[in-house]
Amino acid sequence: MKQYFISRNQKQYLANLHSHTNLSDGTLTPEEMKKAYKDRGYSILAITDHEHPANHSALSDPDFLMLTGYEVHVRVAPRFDLYAPEAHLNLFAKEPDNITMICYDSRYRRFFASDEEFAKIPRAGSERPREYSVSYINELIRTAVNNGYLVSYNHPVWSMEDESHILSYENIFSLEIDNYGSELSGNNEYSGALYDKMLRLGMRRFCHAGDDNHNGVPLDSPESDSFGAFTMILADSLTYPDVIRAMETGNMYASSGPLIHELSKEEDVIHIECSSAKKVILFDGGKTPRFIVAQPGESITSCDLRLRPTARYFRVAVIDENGGIASSRGFFPDEYETIQ
Ligand SMILES: [Zn+2]
Ligand SMILES: [Zn+2]
Repeated sequence: MKQYFISRNQKQYLANLHSHTNLSDGTLTPEEMKKAYKDRGYSILAITDHEHPANHSALSDPDFLMLTGYEVHVRVAPRFDLYAPEAHLNLFAKEPDNITMICYDSRYRRFFASDEEFAKIPRAGSERPREYSVSYINELIRTAVNNGYLVSYNHPVWSMEDESHILSYENIFSLEIDNYGSELSGNNEYSGALYDKMLRLGMRRFCHAGDDNHNGVPLDSPESDSFGAFTMILADSLTYPDVIRAMETGNMYASSGPLIHELSKEEDVIHIECSSAKKVILFDGGKTPRFIVAQPGESITSCDLRLRPTARYFRVAVIDENGGIASSRGFFPDEYETIQ
């Protein structure tokens, strides 16, 4: 029996799950941000301002959905240090009106609107000084999850954390495998190897990508940090509950260019249909992933790769001629063998 992980029958909604406005250190207003992304063909936008949970649902319309959330960070010291590690997490609210502030620490309050507005934001978790430690960060993540958030781990390269820290964080639903703002400034922020390490350790994590745009330069500048890395969300409809359900169940993939139209498995053959690609790789947790490369002057839009029976998991990467990469999430044997 053929099993579909991505099917042409499912609608794919183009999303940016990481962005900043003038509510923190971005330059555009939320209204300008929504217009820019909608004009560009996006259907979903999460405005994730630093330490500023906000419900932007008033900007949603039948063809465009705003997700509620914000970005939390924990540093060795609250002040920015170019050379010290820090952890950044995006909190996506499972209900649009949830703007609970998690583990508030006044020393991190840098970019807020008025005191009156700030005072209205509900709080959960310990209000003690944040502490740069695995145990504290795990407590913060746990508090966020218990208060209705999906928590992602952001831009691992930029953050400069020890891998041992990153691999110790629990309750992360997805790794930001690609972060365009960081990539643009030279951080080589494609974290495929880290994602494979997580999967190899049996960590059930999905992957997504985002712009993390701050718009310090105009949208039409070649140095613009908008429209570079995105997530395709395979939701039943463009409604808040359906989109959150799709994210929560891993019905999404990350990309900086190519699209995956079909990802299926029949017996031991993984079948991929995609936009024009130069290379397709089937990662399985081993040292030598199977792959196919297009002949000179040709491109791949459909291919089959054989999955080893010993595979620890599988995930695919589709690479186009510009170096853009589409990354599926990892699928574990208990998710695909039972349906054979
Ligand atoms: Zn960040
Ligand atoms: Zn950010």
